[in-house]
Amino acid sequence: MNAGKSTELLQIDHNYQSNNMKTLLLKSSVDTRFSETEIVSRLGLKKQAYPLNDDNINDVINDIKKNHYHCILIDESQFLSKHVILKLADACDTCDVPMMFFGLKTDYTGHLFEGSKTLLEIADNFRELKTVCWCGKKATMNLLENSQGEIIKQGSPIHLGDTEYHSVCRRHWQLGQAYPDKNDK
Ligand SMILES: [Zn+2]
Repeated sequence: MNAGKSTELLQIDHNYQSNNMKTLLLKSSVDTRFSETEIVSRLGLKKQAYPLNDDNINDVINDIKKNHYHCILIDESQFLSKHVILKLADACDTCDVPMMFFGLKTDYTGHLFEGSKTLLEIADNFRELKTVCWCGKKATMNLLENSQGEIIKQGSPIHLGDTEYHSVCRRHWQLGQAYPDKNDK
């Protein structure tokens, strides 16, 4: 979860704002680990964002139709449902407003998140934000560690609470190794 996607999102938002352009910031309401109504980057930047879910998507769509936004930026898009993403895609086309989604591709079990699967199916473009595993290789997977320091590989795709995600390479995801030496934390 450390590839800097929230930082990138806030930088793009800043670029629009500094050109006097109007943006709308949304985030999945599922992820409340850091804040329910803010996008928080690991570098300490933060900004208000509207928490989006299946219950309020129609209100958000109405807002998009009424206001002329220059860009809509959506964080934690992996947690959005297919329904929400298809609604946003429809608004993207009918209101002619660009939308940029930021999220993880796969969950800690190694499978695509529902939101990410839908985006892979329908989005115009993709860009990978690169980060590295502790071994120096490209990190492509996410390990989930619970508060007891155990690596969790099975369960519900959305697993928050008192846990920590680690971006690791495929090899160390398979081995379940979030650190160089698991006994040397
Ligand atoms: Zn590695």
